[in-house]
Amino acid sequence: MKQFRSNVIRAGLEALYFTGAHHLLRPIFSGVGAIFMLHHVRQRRAADFQPNRHLEVEPEFLRAMLSHLRSQDIDIVTMDELHRRLVERRFSRRFACFTLDDGYRDNRDFALPVMREFDAPLTVYVASDFAEGTGRLWWIALEMVIAKAETIETRIGDVATRLDASTPAAKQVAFDRLHDWLRKLPDEHDVRREIAALCARHGVDETAISSDLCMSWEELKAFACDPLVTIGSHSITHCNLAKQSEEITHQEMAISRARIEEALQRPVLHLAYPYGDRHAAGPREFALARAVGFETAVTTRPGMIFPESADHLTALPRVSLNGNYQDTRILPVLTSGAATAMWNGFRRVDAA
Ligand SMILES: [Zn+2]
Repeated sequence: MKQFRSNVIRAGLEALYFTGAHHLLRPIFSGVGAIFMLHHVRQRRAADFQPNRHLEVEPEFLRAMLSHLRSQDIDIVTMDELHRRLVERRFSRRFACFTLDDGYRDNRDFALPVMREFDAPLTVYVASDFAEGTGRLWWIALEMVIAKAETIETRIGDVATRLDASTPAAKQVAFDRLHDWLRKLPDEHDVRREIAALCARHGVDETAISSDLCMSWEELKAFACDPLVTIGSHSITHCNLAKQSEEITHQEMAISRARIEEALQRPVLHLAYPYGDRHAAGPREFALARAVGFETAVTTRPGMIFPESADHLTALPRVSLNGNYQDTRILPVLTSGAATAMWNGFRRVDAA
């Protein structure tokens, strides 16, 4: 199913590219700017089974995107500057922001050097438990379990289920099945419990993942001193905020912000909702982010920035730089706004 969706997206992008339709759509859909969303930036790994590969791009692809934007004379700005331009309604020049979620160490090692080549700023959204080394990156734990296993036995709902994981293709099917099941569980505690059980059964140390992959407070302190870097909040535990009580969601926003500000001794004015789709961030979260005092908050809903985005500063859409589509031919399609317009049903603002 994921593969199917993936092929549909690819076909859509290629159709837009080959027909040149993105040029025709441009004046209507391009908007005034775009916020690009990335996660990992690193060299491609050799493994056949990489179910989280959509969450990583190679430094070369990032470089190609930056150089495309420069060739289009698009300003690459900080989230502070995006906020300013929206509030002051200054739209004489098109602009782009680069945002990276979760606080991975490869952002410092591979993304920052490329950004520096273009003197381009970036915002990294940190989940404070990840920086603390106590967070749980369950989607990576799940990948590690399935990579090791030949078969997975678990209860999905009330049904004892045995999943084949003997080949890369079977592993992908097992991953999709378990991932969909976990995302639909009522609460984050359920996800934690199920992942902990799978890790225990298959000898995976999930407690090491956050410190293996994410920057610690010490590392973040040095990273945040770079003039190109802005640090934002990505909650405390990286939970689905829409599934929490209002009180917990408020805490996830306010306490993560306070912890990051305390550790880095600088203001944290920007938020990214974990998962960020319409099942994870809706009107209640948009209002809470405003109440907590964030200047902007970004979702993972696809879309470009329009002048009317100024009225929805805590519900901003982004354009994903997806590791499954690292084809430089699609760069003009992504910056045209035609692709995201197609995916979001041609809405200019999607904040409900
Ligand atoms: Zn995230």
